[in-house]
Amino acid sequence: MTECVFCRIVVRQIPASVVHEEEHALAFMDLGQVNPGHVLVAAKAHVENLFGLQAAQAAALSAVTVRVARAIRAAFAPQGLSVYQANGKAAGQTVFHYHVHLVPRYENDGMALTWPVKNPPREKLEDYAAKLRSVLPG
Ligand SMILES: [Zn+2]
Repeated sequence: MTECVFCRIVVRQIPASVVHEEEHALAFMDLGQVNPGHVLVAAKAHVENLFGLQAAQAAALSAVTVRVARAIRAAFAPQGLSVYQANGKAAGQTVFHYHVHLVPRYENDGMALTWPVKNPPREKLEDYAAKLRSVLPG
């Protein structure tokens, strides 16, 4: 038996309140509910993070993420919606199975993200872009 909690949810060894399921994706309510309507969209196959997704999985997961986001907007009418997806411990990932958080948002709801901008000079941005273009997968 797998120790991965999301794999166990996929095979229903752990109960979850499922919103939507299809070949590559399972959307279910996050136990923590930062705000009512907080949903996780997870890969059905065990993939640790974004870097391991195949193209078909990525496309399907993105489409389900958008569909469920629209459902959250229709059902809960939040003032906003945050999409949060972490890859690696340093990024804040705690369950090492690819998933996206869809969090309905409201002014002053207590959720915060520190965004420590560095504002490098334009030449640095060009250097960064060139570095990425040189290794961008086809
Ligand atoms: Zn898993």
